[in-house]
Amino acid sequence: MARIVMKFGGTSVADLSRIHNVARHVKREVDAGNQVAVVVSAMSGKTNELVGWVQETPKVAGASMPLYDAREYDAVVASGEQVTSGLLAIALQSMGVHARSWQGWQIPIKTDGAHGAARILDIDGSFLIRRFEEGQVAVVAGFQGIAPDNRISTLGRGGSDTSAVAIAAAVKADRCDIYTDVDGVYTTDPRIEPKARRLAKISFEEMLEMASLGAKVLQVRSVELAMVHKVRTFVRSSFDDPDAPGMGDLLNPPGTLICDEDEIVEQQVVTGIAYAKDEAQISLRRVADRPGVAAGIFLPLAEANINVDMIVQNISEDGKSTDMTFTVPNGDVAKALAVLDQVRKDVGFDVVQHEDGMSKVSVIGIGMRSHAGVAATAFKALADKAINIRAITTSEIKISILIDGPYTELAVRTLHSVYGLDKH
Ligand code: ASP
Ligand code: MG
Repeated sequence: MARIVMKFGGTSVADLSRIHNVARHVKREVDAGNQVAVVVSAMSGKTNELVGWVQETPKVAGASMPLYDAREYDAVVASGEQVTSGLLAIALQSMGVHARSWQGWQIPIKTDGAHGAARILDIDGSFLIRRFEEGQVAVVAGFQGIAPDNRISTLGRGGSDTSAVAIAAAVKADRCDIYTDVDGVYTTDPRIEPKARRLAKISFEEMLEMASLGAKVLQVRSVELAMVHKVRTFVRSSFDDPDAPGMGDLLNPPGTLICDEDEIVEQQVVTGIAYAKDEAQISLRRVADRPGVAAGIFLPLAEANINVDMIVQNISEDGKSTDMTFTVPNGDVAKALAVLDQVRKDVGFDVVQHEDGMSKVSVIGIGMRSHAGVAATAFKALADKAINIRAITTSEIKISILIDGPYTELAVRTLHSVYGLDKH
């Protein structure tokens, strides 16, 4: 017997027949004698629709500014998950499974007060464990909790992954299964490189990089949580036949296991290639070379909620001034330029150049820690394809390279192949 948290994303609960299919997956695990809690997202597209309504309402009401109360935003957008949790409980009951739905506030899933992007502070696991002992399947609405002001909060887009992992940590589950519309984590995006392979296992650290660098399988925060609490997390498909052989395998269900690196025996040097399109590069020329300059630039950008990514500063040639280059999402360029314009006099720099339509391609692997020459291999491979490198940043387990957008696909395929990731 095992204790399992099963999470189903929006496409897996997109309509009543899919909800029935999800119920079959749940019933399989229950019939095998496991303790099960389920976390659901809203039906796919629902949250977007709800967010759209929230944004439209002030305009329709004639307000001059498109402003709205973040607590009411949460009250509205959390409702998508309320619907699917109830529907799944009904489907399970109709199949003879003892189940009921729970909203975030009922458990309670306590969060901080950052409405719209709240963080989970505490979940009392004993509450759910009591349900397990009564043989009840708890169907929990993902994405939502309760804030200190006693109001509904939501965890940011994609947040039901985080709900699931947090619940798995709170009840000390043996596994957290994230059911989605793909059957695992791939070495790269299979839509770009059909030779991409499904990984049997990937370490928490690598998955964190993959998720942060553009792979959209899991919310980044859910991977952080899984890493901190060592929650063994499976990414698997809800579209597989629930009763196919091996689906109920306790240790090795089909999918990708995200786990501690110690569990990965055959470690490759490089595990995957991620990419993020629509990046823009901003360069500041003749930036004064003195303490406080970087803070003078990046604090105001952070305060304006601009997500700065790669930052490259040159060594000063004359000891007086230097160059500084960084990237932001395309959509933030105008806002960033406005902020820079305001700080230019105080900080001291000359020209601001910017160019959008860049892509960041990243090579990820914990094997890099113990292997030399991984970066050089990437640079050579890109050079052979005449792809120009605009900026480079590295960490212990990743190399990120900024290139011109139109070369994204070619760069991803080239790197995928040069590190031996292609399936044969
Ligand atoms: N329904 C929410 C969203 O679309 C949460 C989730 O799906 O994880 O962002
Ligand atoms: Mg999702």
